Order: sequence, then structure tokens, then C-alpha cells
Amino acid sequence: MSADTEPTLPTDPTPRPGRDGQDDVARELAARLATLPPIQVLYTDLDGTLLGPDGSLLHRADGQPSTVGAAAVVEALSAGLTVIPVSGRQRQQLQHDTRLLGLTDCIGEAGAVIQRDGALAYAWGQAPRDLADTPHDALLAAGAWDALRRAFPDDLALYEPWHRGREGSLLLHGAVDPAAADAVLADAGCAWARLIDNGEAAGWPGRQVRAYHLLPRGVGKAEAVAADLRARGLRPEQAVAVGDSPTDARLAQAVGLSAIVANGRGAGEGVLRLSAPMGEGVAQLVTAVVAARRRQEA
Ligand SMILES: [Mg+2]
Repeated sequence: MSADTEPTLPTDPTPRPGRDGQDDVARELAARLATLPPIQVLYTDLDGTLLGPDGSLLHRADGQPSTVGAAAVVEALSAGLTVIPVSGRQRQQLQHDTRLLGLTDCIGEAGAVIQRDGALAYAWGQAPRDLADTPHDALLAAGAWDALRRAFPDDLALYEPWHRGREGSLLLHGAVDPAAADAVLADAGCAWARLIDNGEAAGWPGRQVRAYHLLPRGVGKAEAVAADLRARGLRPEQAVAVGDSPTDARLAQAVGLSAIVANGRGAGEGVLRLSAPMGEGVAQLVTAVVAARRRQEA
């Protein structure tokens, strides 16, 4: 029987939400990674990315208990990759999370706070240095939050309780256009500050809202990752990043390959959309990175 006459097996008609095109993505990952030198660093967002619903490392996107996200970290570390959480979370919380993952370095507050080799640094960007001891306090002292609160009284709020203890930024949630917020900031004499979208958020009963970081301009996850790679003596092509938000998609500027998990939002030039959500998406990326490294070492 020739290939032409072989009966065609029926394809699986069951849709698999969020996982369509897995093979296509695996092929694209392999092709993109083949153009890069061996990857040394994986930058991963936590909420909505490595972590499942409610910030659980041990649940997958459908709510079922799963070690897939944890196993992805183990696979990356076992292959010799450096894994660095890049999160909107505040420093003290992120330091605990990082330690629990068996990691040491992290980038918190959406790029405003960087921990590397046991040292901590704030990213000031364009913020004036003479207003306060931290960028967070400079944003308050300059009236940036007051201006936004007055302009969007029903649509923007401090994100309780996660905004507490911040040093480099303010964490807000609500539903506003970041460009409109930036115009308000400029009118208030705070053109050096900006609002960025950090993905879906909760904590606002009866309303779908998003999390926002109020940050100095020149500060962000992409800027922090670029600075971190320079400090490590690595080139962008030696790193990959994965996230779930438009600000994560911007990491494409700073690394050789930037990917968004299937549940994520945000696209852009060079951003690869994974076919699996949350920790499963991270696992998809890690498996491809490790396989590419093995091929390059062979
Ligand atoms: Mg996220």
C-alpha cells in the first residue's frame, strides 16, 4: 500500500483549550533557539506565568494540583541555567518566593528593585533624586498618585494589600488607559512618571480589573533585565524571558527570545506566543531551551 492510499486516521476532534498548535510552537521555538548561542539565563514572571491560579506554584491553569511549574524550574536548574524571577511583587515577598524556589537573584516591583549577588539596588530612572530616599516615596512626594486618584476616582485604587511595603513603585489596580494616565501625570508636573499595565488583577469585587505599576520613566522589567545582563557580562542573545502581560512582552527588547504564555496578553515584534498556559507554558519554553543547549553542546 503506497502512502497515497493509506487510510487517513481521524484526527482528535476534542479541542484542548490553550494548547492548540503545540507542535507548531515547539518547531518555532527550536528554530528561533537555533539562531541563538546557548541560553544562560531564564527570566520568568511569576503571577499568571510560572505560578498557577491564586499564585500557587503547585496548581496548573485549570486549577488541578500539578508540579509542572516546579518541574520546569528543576529542569532549567539541572541543565545549568540561571533562573531569575522578574515580578511585580514587592521585595520582601519576592525574596521569600525566590528562596522557596531555590533561587538567589530576583527583579521586583516590575524592574524597580534588583537583587543580585546579595546586593540590593533601586532603579531611579528619570525620578528626581532629591525628593525622598526611595523612588516610591519620590512618587508620593511629587504628587503623582494624588493626581491619578483625582483624575480616576472610580477606576483606579491602591491594590490592597499588595501595594504595602513597596520601595520602587506604587501598585494600583483598576481599569484605565495607561496613555490617559500618563497625560494626567504630565499635567501634574510628573512627566518623569508613567503607568504600566502588569496584567489581569483581582481584589475589586464585581469588576474585571488590571494591575498597574506607577513607576519613574526609564524603569521597567525590560530596562532591569538589560542592566542585569550587562552586569553579568552576558549578551541579550544568551537569555530568554517568559511572561503574561504587555510589560513582559517588552522583554523582547532585552533578550534573545521573549515568550508569552497562552493565557497571557501582549504581543509585539519577536514575541513568541506559547500554546500552553502558566506553568505549562514555562515548561514548554524550558524544555525547548534545554534541548537546544544539548544540541549546541553535542
Ligand atoms: Mg504576570
